[in-house]
Formats: sequence, C-alpha cells, structure tokens
Amino acid sequence: MYDIMSPKAEEFISDEEIRACLAYAEENKHNRELIDEILEKARKMKGVSHKEALVLLDCDLEDKNEEIYALARKIKEEFYGNRIVMFAPLYLSNYCINGCEYCPYHAKNRHIPRKKLTQEEIRQEVIALQDMGHKRLAIESGEDPVNNPLEYILESIKTIYSIKHKNGAIRRVNVNIAATTVENYAKLKEAGIGTYILFQETYNKESYEALHPSGPKSDYAYHTEAMDRAMEGGIDDVGLGVLFGLNNYRYDFTGIIMHAEHLEAYKGVGPHTISVPRLRRADDIDPDVFDNGISDDLFAKIVACIRIAVPYTGMIVSTRESQQSRERVLNLGVSQISGGSRTSVGGYTDEERPEDTVQFDVDDRRTLDEVVNWLMKLGYVPSFCTACYREGRTGDRFMSLLKSKQIVNCCHPNALMTLKEYLEDYASPDTKAIGEALIQKELQTIPNEKVREKAAEYIANIHQGQRDFRF
Ligand code: SAM
Repeated sequence: MYDIMSPKAEEFISDEEIRACLAYAEENKHNRELIDEILEKARKMKGVSHKEALVLLDCDLEDKNEEIYALARKIKEEFYGNRIVMFAPLYLSNYCINGCEYCPYHAKNRHIPRKKLTQEEIRQEVIALQDMGHKRLAIESGEDPVNNPLEYILESIKTIYSIKHKNGAIRRVNVNIAATTVENYAKLKEAGIGTYILFQETYNKESYEALHPSGPKSDYAYHTEAMDRAMEGGIDDVGLGVLFGLNNYRYDFTGIIMHAEHLEAYKGVGPHTISVPRLRRADDIDPDVFDNGISDDLFAKIVACIRIAVPYTGMIVSTRESQQSRERVLNLGVSQISGGSRTSVGGYTDEERPEDTVQFDVDDRRTLDEVVNWLMKLGYVPSFCTACYREGRTGDRFMSLLKSKQIVNCCHPNALMTLKEYLEDYASPDTKAIGEALIQKELQTIPNEKVREKAAEYIANIHQGQRDFRF
C-alpha cells in the first residue's frame, strides 16, 4: 500500500505505486494534452509529482522535450542563478563489512589495501585541500563498527574543523557514511556537520537485496528509513542519491522523487540535495556487468526532470562525470560540483601510491583551479560559500529563503566574496584575471543597493587580509 506519511519504507516507497507509474508513463509518453498540462503546472515552479515527472522523463516528442529542457534551465536560473558551489570528497577509511556488489571496498575484496587515516594524516589531507582552496568537504567512509566507529568519524570532524592553515579553513563538513541510529545522528548534528548524505543506490527492494547480499547495509528498510532517523536526530539538511546503472533508471527516478515527497510531507522539509552518480569502473568492478547503464542524453534528461520535479533541492554532480557531461547538465539543474577530487584514502597527500585504495575511476581529472577557470569562462560563478549553515539557515529556513527568491541578495554576494577570497589566496594568474573581471560585473546584478555596496566594500578589503565576512 502506498502511504506518503508512513514511516515504513515499503509504504512511502511503494513498489505497487512505482509500477503503476511506470505503466501510466509508458501509456502517456506521447499524450500531448497530458504533457502540456504537466508542463503548465511545472511552469509555476512549485514542482510536479513523481508520476507527472516520470511522464516528462519518458516523453519522446521532440518539441516537448525542448520545452522540458528550456523549463529546467529557467528554474535553475530563477532559483540558483549562475552560482555553482564547489566541494571535494575526503576519504577517511575504506574498511568495510558490507558486500555491495558494485563497490571495490566490499568485504570480500581481499586484494585492495585497507587503510584508515590517522588524525595526523587527516590533518595533512585537509591542509592539502585547503591549499587547493576548498572550504567545503564531504567525508566518505566504509562501514565498519570496529575500524571506523562513529567516535572515529566524530573525532575526524573535530580535527577537520580545527585546522587553520594560512588563510584556509574548512567551514562545512558534509558526511557520507552508512545508515545509523537516531542517537548517532544526534551526535553528528552536535559535531556541526552540514548535510548528511546517503545514497539509496536503488529503490527497488529486490534489486537492492541482490546488490547488497551481506552486512548491515543489506537491510533495505533500515537503509531507506535512514533520512527519517537523521531528521529525528536533529539533522535537517539531508542529501539523497541513487547510483544510476545498477537498476532500471525509470524505477529509481520515480523512487527518488517519492522519497523527496515523503520527507517534505512527513518531516516538513524536503532533501537539501540530490546527487546523480553514475556507476564507474573500479578495482574488482566492471560496470558492463550491470546492464542498466544510461547514455549521456538520458543522464541530461534525468537531471532536467529532477530539476522540474523538485525545484527547491540542490543537485550535485561529481567528477565521476566527464567535463563534457558536466558542462551539459550545469544549466539544466546542477548547483554543486566537486573539483580536483581524489577518491582514495590519503589521495591528496599520498605521492607514492595514490591510486591503491581508489573507490572508482574519476573522469574529470582537472585541478580545482582548472575547474574554477572553466566555470567562469562558461559564465558561472564558482562559489565557496558555506554561510547558510553557519548562520543557521538550514532545513525549512533555507527552503523559505529559496522559495521567496531572496537568495539573490544573500547567496550571490556570499558567492562573490568567497570567490574573491579564492582568487586572492589560491588562483593561478589567468584564473585570477578572469575572476576579478567577473566579480565586478556580477556585483552589479545584486538588487539590494545596501547589500551591493557592502559586498563591494568587503571585496575591496580582501587583499588586505580580511576574510570570512558573510550575509
Ligand atoms: N559507505 C557508505 C555507504 O555505503 O552508504 C557511504 C560512502 S560510499 C564511499 C559513497 C558512494 O559511492 C556509495 O553510496 C555508492 O553510491 C558510490 N559508489 C560505490 N561504488 C561505486 C562505483 N563503482 N562507481 C560509482 N560510484 C560508486
């Protein structure tokens, strides 16, 4: 039975409801009248239901698809402007007791070296990340209560926040660790984390169970209900994701929108972000074994339809994607990207064997400076802003800012000020020159005069050592 308000995974992600949607969308993918109706509703920019979103995803009428892409671009522009938030992953440990079939850290992989960073090694990694210019990290860890207990994660977060190297500081630590208890989520909240991220991998229970044959992660309900527990523990920014390539994309697309709807209806606040990772080659893992891979065209359509379905949710694309693929989805809805990423434990400082513990091959291997430079040439403003969460603008407070479109008087100046800090402290001469001109131009687009003047004044003072002013 489908029940959006149920705390039970099998009811808020009802298989029966998803299958009914799959059949409905298949039947209506050429239904111009219905597609027009859905687009009409979508143009109000308040979202559409999972069922309606799937009809748009399945639609193969060329002119309607053009309208879908145009609307996704418009929503992106309206809510998020041209800002792109930057972050990097930091792998703490690849010890893992789970049996995930697609991940090289699975417990049965006996040839991958196991590594867990000491606090001193974390320090070195964070200094390397700060020297690149990063301010926002997503920490990653395998699940292993003996080697990586929650206390280790908490201690690591404390270490990360404590490191102030030159003008560097990590101002927001997002956390991507296994599903846990309400008590543990409350401890993560207490430690000052930003977003709690957990990918569902797939919403199809049968497929989920086959892909996770052993370990705590094999419990579908416990995993799927994790975000409800996280919110109960006080974390109000949560990040969803599915790993495209594992299961039928239509099923998982519908599932992730239903999950977002459930959180909004049941917990009063939808997900802060949705990630759209695609399966990559890795040690012991051949993505071709999984026959659900999706093309770049389909990937772009998924991003556009998520943007339309949940306009208030940020979207994240990692370096799993190529430069070309990232470029394509940036204006369709993506608001955060990683840059200069290493997906191995100790990858930012391990000069000798940096690839030994790699989780998957990254496609975009450019440095952070190259990514920032590229973004600006495309007309985007790379942002290193972390203000919202530090000002307490999380959960529904952030959502109301976004919904009232006041973000332009808040996020835009913050983005420009943090970009200026980046240019001053870390950028190459070419990136700096492009960025200085961009900042002057973008300052003029801030509607509120007082905010504009204050931001300009602060930006002018950055080279004299001023840091970390925020709206
Ligand atoms: N261990 C935690 C868990 O299982 O949820 C979170 C950390 S895990 C390092 C982060 C994510 O990497 C997983 O949720 C999965 O979606 C993704 N991942 C694993 N293997 C991958 C692969 N071969 N290609 C792309 N992404 C992969």
